[in-house]
Amino acid sequence: MICNFPIPHPGEILHSVFARYNDRMHYRAVRAASRDLFGYEKLVRPIFPNGLENLVANLPPKPNYTVTSLINDHTLLPFYEPFLPRGRVSLIRNAMATDDETPISTLLGLRNRILPTKCNCFCPCCIKDDREQFGECYWHRVHQLPGVEVCPSHNVYLQYCTLYANEATHAYEYVSAEKAISRLKNDPIGIKNSQYNDFLKIACDALWLLQNHDVTVDLSSVQKRLLILLAEKGFATFRGNLYTNKLLQSFRQFYPTNFLEQLHCELYETTHRNWLANLPHGKENVYGPTRHLLLIYFLGYRIETFLNLPIDQKPFGDGPWPCLNPVCNNYYKRCIQECEVIYLPAYGRYPRGRFSCECGFTYSRIGPDHTEKDQFRASKFKLYGPLWEQKLREIWKDPTINISQAAHILGVGQKVFKDQAKKLGLIVIRSLRRDVPVQKVEDSRTYVVRITDPVLLEKNRTIWLAEQVKTANISVKELKSKVPKIHRWLYSHDREWLLSNSPKPFRQGTSGPKPLQVLDQRDTQFATEVRSSALSIIHTHGSPTRLTKASISNCINQKSMILRNLDRLPLTAQTLTEFSETPEMFAIRRVQWLVGCYQQEGVCPTRGQFLSRGNLRSVQARWVSVKNAIDDALRHLNTIMA
Ligand SMILES: [Zn+2]
Ligand SMILES: [Zn+2]
Repeated sequence: MICNFPIPHPGEILHSVFARYNDRMHYRAVRAASRDLFGYEKLVRPIFPNGLENLVANLPPKPNYTVTSLINDHTLLPFYEPFLPRGRVSLIRNAMATDDETPISTLLGLRNRILPTKCNCFCPCCIKDDREQFGECYWHRVHQLPGVEVCPSHNVYLQYCTLYANEATHAYEYVSAEKAISRLKNDPIGIKNSQYNDFLKIACDALWLLQNHDVTVDLSSVQKRLLILLAEKGFATFRGNLYTNKLLQSFRQFYPTNFLEQLHCELYETTHRNWLANLPHGKENVYGPTRHLLLIYFLGYRIETFLNLPIDQKPFGDGPWPCLNPVCNNYYKRCIQECEVIYLPAYGRYPRGRFSCECGFTYSRIGPDHTEKDQFRASKFKLYGPLWEQKLREIWKDPTINISQAAHILGVGQKVFKDQAKKLGLIVIRSLRRDVPVQKVEDSRTYVVRITDPVLLEKNRTIWLAEQVKTANISVKELKSKVPKIHRWLYSHDREWLLSNSPKPFRQGTSGPKPLQVLDQRDTQFATEVRSSALSIIHTHGSPTRLTKASISNCINQKSMILRNLDRLPLTAQTLTEFSETPEMFAIRRVQWLVGCYQQEGVCPTRGQFLSRGNLRSVQARWVSVKNAIDDALRHLNTIMA
C-alpha cells in the first residue's frame, strides 16, 4: 500500500497527482513511481490514464478513492462523455479501469490532433494562487482541454510550457507542474481581442461540463436537441433533414475563419466533407466537444441551458387537446388524448398535427404551436363526425335559421356548410328557404379561428407577384383572369396583403393621372368634407354607425374619386384614418351611447339587457377594454339610478 499518496487538489489532473508523488518520493529511477502506483512498470498516459483498478487497490482506504471518483473528478473524460454514444463511454471507462492498452483516442473515435497528449498548459494566475494556498502548483485539468485557451477562473490567456515540451521526456516519467514551470513568463495576457469572449465561453462551459457530470446525457440526446433547435431556426425540417447550404453559410458568417482554424473546426468548401453537416446526425458520428459547443452557441444557447432543453419534439405541446366542434359537449375542453404528428414534404419543414375527438370531429393544424392559444386553432377540418352532421340536419329543418346563422352555429363558413349539406343530400330542399327572415341566434360562444396554411400562403403570394413582374403595367382585371384561383384564394385568406400588392387601378377615360397641383388644391376641401361627414355620423341620433372609410365618404359627393386617389390626397387620407374606428373603438362608442339612452329613459338595465341592446356579447369577450367600459357603464348607471 502507498502511504505517501498526495491528496488531489481541486480540479487537478491525475497525472499531476502522480507527478507530485514522484517528487515527494525523490526516486532516482524513472520507472520507480509507476511500479509503486500500479504494481508494474507502465508507460505514462498523462491525459487518459489506465490501470486505475490496480491503483485504487494500492491506495490507502481513506479517503475512499474509487475508479469512478478518480475518473469523474481528475480526468478529462467528463468533458467528452456528453458527446459520445452511450456504449462507447462504458468501453472507455472500462479501458481506464483495467490495463487495456487500446489508445483512448481510438476508443473516443477522435483524431489525435484534437486530443491533448501531455500536460503543458497553465494559467500564470492559478500557479501564483496555488503556490500561496497549497505551497505548490499543479496541472489543472480544465487547462489541458482542447479549445480552452483562457483560464475560466482568471480570464487570462493560458501559457504553454514550451521549454519543457521541447525536451524529449521519458515515456515512463511523471512531470510535475512545479518542476516544469520554474519561471513564469512576462505578465499574464488578458487582452480582449474580438475572439476573447468566444474563448471565455468555451472555457467556462468546459469547466461546467467537468464539474457537472451527468450520466443521462449522451450523443443521441444532444443530437436530438440540436435538431429541434435547427428546425426552429429554419436550418432543418422538423423531420430532421438539414438545409446544409443555408446552415454552412450562416455559420461561416457567425464565426471568423481564423477562429475556426485556431480551434481545428474549419469548414471545407465541399458540403459532404464538413463536420457541421454531419454532426447532428448519425449514432456513431463522434466529434470533439468544441465543435458541439460552437454549434450550440450559434443556436443561441450555453451548454447548461442547452442540456436543460427537452429531448422530445413536441410541436403541439403537451396534451390533452381541445375538441373544436361547437356542437360537441366537450367543445373547447381538453379531451383529446392523442395527437398524430405528420411530416409531409408538401408542408415544407412544418409538422402537421391531427386531432380526433370521440364525437368524430377531426381537425388538423400546421405547427409548431407558439402560444397556448394556438391549441384552439385549426388549419383544416378533416372530418365532421356524426354529432356535427346530426346538428346540421336539425338546423336544416328549422325554418327560423338562415344559412349564415346555421354556418355560424356549426363553426364553419357558408361554403363548407353548403358543401356538407350537399354531401348529406340536403341541398335541394334548403335552397328554397333562403329568404327566411333573420332571427337573432343566441350564442355567445367564441368560434374557432382558422389559421392559414403558411406553405400555401407563401406559394400563392409568390405566384401573384411573379405574374406582375412578367407583364409590365398589367391591370388587376388582367391579372385576375390570368390566375383566377390564386386571386380567389388570396382574396379570402390574405385580403389585406392582396390589396396592397396588386397593381394600382388606372382611371378610365383619361390619359393619365390628373396634374398633382389640381388635387393638391382640392385636398384641403375634401379633408374638410370628410371631417364634417364623420362628425355628422357621430352626432346622428339613434343607433350609432361605425366610422369607416366607406361610411364616412358615403355622404361625400365625389366618393369614388376620393377613394381612388387617396395616395395623392395626403390630408384627406389622414383625416379619414383619424376618424376611422376599429371594431373595438366602435364597441366602446356603443357602450357610451347606451349609457346616454338608459340615462334618458331613466332605466337601470341588467347586464344581459345592456349587452343585447348594444350587440356587445361577443365583443366583450374579445377585448378587455370593452369589457372594462361595460363594467364602468353599468356601475355608473347603478349609482345614478339608485
Ligand atoms: Zn487561472
Ligand atoms: Zn368533440
